[in-house]
Amino acid sequence: MNAAGEIAGAGPVHACTMFGAPGHDYHSCPQCKARFELRLQKLGRAGEGTMIEIADVKEALERHTGEQGGITAARLVAEITGSLSPSPSAERKLRDIIAHLRHDGLPVCGHPVTGYYLAESSEELELTCRFLRKRALHSLVQEAQLRKLALPDLLGQIALEMNAA
Ligand SMILES: [Zn+2]
Repeated sequence: MNAAGEIAGAGPVHACTMFGAPGHDYHSCPQCKARFELRLQKLGRAGEGTMIEIADVKEALERHTGEQGGITAARLVAEITGSLSPSPSAERKLRDIIAHLRHDGLPVCGHPVTGYYLAESSEELELTCRFLRKRALHSLVQEAQLRKLALPDLLGQIALEMNAA
């Protein structure tokens, strides 16, 4: 892990190849910024001209605070674009932007049952964190099975790799 807390290979999909390297910082890296904007442009074009910008998503989420205000990805896209049948690529773009906003420190909660919303309490954030961890652990259990390792051994290896950077 580098000084910015980045782990190589664990950054947003659009991050540059230096993500996790010593001295790299996603927030000030011009490469990462350019790659993110390029990706948004590509997804924007794929979505029949439907434009979704970072500021739009942030603004829309600010109208959906607390678990009661949760909204599905499809409805959030519809709210932003005014389109009643948003394209799958528009939803993909929304998820990319949400990952970006989380990286910026915005407490965006998300759960299949509640949809997306901004956390109003630490309990809500905790629920999302537990959901994300469970999903990640599910993947790690499968990796451990393929490698014929016990999960704690795989976790130990991952911790070592993270400290080695
Ligand atoms: Zn970068």
